[in-house]
Amino acid sequence: EKFTDFPLSKLTLDGLSASKYSKPTDIQRESIGLALQGHDILGAAKTGSGKTLAFLIPILEHLYREKWTPLDGMGALIISPTRELAFQTFQVLKKIGTSHDFSAGLVIGGKHVREEKERMTTTNIVVCTPGRLLEHMEETFNFTADSLQILVLDEADRILDLGFAEAMNAIIENLPASRQTLLFSATQTKSVKDLARLSLKDPMYVSV
Ligand code: AMP
Repeated sequence: EKFTDFPLSKLTLDGLSASKYSKPTDIQRESIGLALQGHDILGAAKTGSGKTLAFLIPILEHLYREKWTPLDGMGALIISPTRELAFQTFQVLKKIGTSHDFSAGLVIGGKHVREEKERMTTTNIVVCTPGRLLEHMEETFNFTADSLQILVLDEADRILDLGFAEAMNAIIENLPASRQTLLFSATQTKSVKDLARLSLKDPMYVSV
């Protein structure tokens, strides 16, 4: 089975083949079809399984099908446990999304607070860390992410291990309920299950 067997746009397939990805990994094979149908997903997948493309491909396809334009604001938000993982995910996104017309940005802290705030409200696909995201949400009067279509919680167990359980609750409460959510975690601890219950609606379970 190849990526070309999936109902993906030429733009996404071009990005995949330019990055030399031809065959989906197990987690990609299991998740992509379900995510494209609009299901929430609880994915049990370790680093190295290919989970990054399992959520990036559905994001690109969803926004493409919705005819998202750079002016339509934040369509997808990816929350990563660390700046390093956020940066890696952002790099993969830029590579496979290269043929699409969406803007992508990082919100992971650093010196440029004002630029990040701007990025939060205008960028189509945002990759962030939870602490920084919550700071921006709290500081920005009337922050809304009304346009948000897809939320990804990547390495949820690590997010919680790093002490972000309360931050995640606050973030999720402030996001529109009408979104699709994809949660990936290597382990399924009680705190992961609590976060899943709070953030997912009728999820499909994917385990590889
Ligand atoms: P991830 O688990 O998303 O961090 O991916 C782990 C590694 O697998 C990365 O180096 C990816 O570039 C690689 N990878 C992911 N998906 C594929 C694929 N479909 N074909 C070949 N390599 C892949």
